[in-house]
Amino acid sequence: MAHLPAHSQSASPDAPTPPTRYELLTFGDELLLGLTSNTHLTWIGAELGRRGVLLQRNVTVTDEADAIAGQFRESWACADVVITTGGLGPTCDDRTREVLATVLGQKLVFEPKIEEAIRARFAKFQRVPTANNLKQAWRFERGEVLPNGNGTAPGLWVEQDGKILIMLPGPPNELQPMFTEQVIPRLAALGRLSDHEAYIQIRSIGVGESSLETMFQCTFSRNPGLGIAFCAHSGQVDCRISSPDGHYGMEKLRAIASECAALLGDNLMCYGHDSLAQVVADQLKLQGRTLAVAEASTGGLLSNAFADLCGACKFFQGGIVSTSNEAKMLMLECPECLLKQHGAVSAECAVAMASGVAEKLGADYGLAITGFSGPASGCGENPVGSIYIGLHAPGGDWAKHLTYPGPRSAVKQRAVNDAIDWLRREVMKESRRIAAPQVN
Ligand code: ATP
Repeated sequence: MAHLPAHSQSASPDAPTPPTRYELLTFGDELLLGLTSNTHLTWIGAELGRRGVLLQRNVTVTDEADAIAGQFRESWACADVVITTGGLGPTCDDRTREVLATVLGQKLVFEPKIEEAIRARFAKFQRVPTANNLKQAWRFERGEVLPNGNGTAPGLWVEQDGKILIMLPGPPNELQPMFTEQVIPRLAALGRLSDHEAYIQIRSIGVGESSLETMFQCTFSRNPGLGIAFCAHSGQVDCRISSPDGHYGMEKLRAIASECAALLGDNLMCYGHDSLAQVVADQLKLQGRTLAVAEASTGGLLSNAFADLCGACKFFQGGIVSTSNEAKMLMLECPECLLKQHGAVSAECAVAMASGVAEKLGADYGLAITGFSGPASGCGENPVGSIYIGLHAPGGDWAKHLTYPGPRSAVKQRAVNDAIDWLRREVMKESRRIAAPQVN
């Protein structure tokens, strides 16, 4: 059962005022060389979007001082909030602090508290900082420090000329908590963005984008002026519902979202941003049930979807990757005669793997994937891209046959998504069964 997030329930309808222009400058040669994906754009863009801000521009710039200065000057002239990422570290190619201080005509001052934090962090790992590490202890004379709980380079916050400059460290594990725990609350307090989600998102699965729009059309036309946006990704479609002019309060948006969600039935995955695996995990934990997975062609991808979740050990017993027939016999007790008669890419094998792993690891649910991910192998009724999913559940054992086009990585990912979604639907049935009043 999907529930609207609590903060949406109590949130007031006010949109951020006045419109603020945000720009993001991502510094680093490695981004331009294609060695690192610019995930700061997608992550920061999404975080701002959730709070009603559309990032106006992202520019990726080399580590070179003139390039950084030139781009920053341009962005500072037209934006209200400039966020920069990277280049705050200890090495000679980390120039953000010095270059931006020069452009803004600010002095850098040494901050003993930062030095203390750097030394304490090094001491935690029985190390002593080298001299260049102390380069990170300089802050803007008229600026503030954003402490870094996961690294040595603190973020920097500067308010000048009625604008805000936010400098964040490059590593995502340092940047992300700094952004959600320090930057977002500060910006919200200054009225530069909404302090709560500015839209309600319905996450659906198993329905195409255009079908979803058609399904919701009737509800939308009864409520003119809504902000509606669809986003399709990996078999899921998100629909964001907002009120750009503030006409509809959060309670009304909530009611509209509920009406749409009711039309989806089991194709409603959740409200908000949870992953498919997270949705399943929440239900399993509520039921007090456990899961184990077995996989061949997906080589650990299925297992990783659950192992990635915080608190996975509370419901996830583990996963077994069994590529060869020998491994299937040894680790999952798949009968040799079954493998000989039906082959490893078969419904029978998928079921044997699912029930085998559930039994071996003592789990209530077993989920298995076996197939030909391509680009070679496959034949007859099992062409390339042919995948069998096996499910062992308290209510019985089943298998499903699916065929996917596309490269190996896409086949593997789609098989994992479909397997987890099938499990989700089964687990939801069980949740409904448990919740239904018992009739004697
Ligand atoms: P460090 O102290 O590690 O030097 P820094 O603030 O100087 O941090 P960079 O050196 O520019 O940051 O980048 C450090 C690491 O952060 C990079 O190796 C890269 O993995 C990651 N990173 C930087 N920019 C981005 C980005 N836009 N998207 C994703 N990861 C990034």
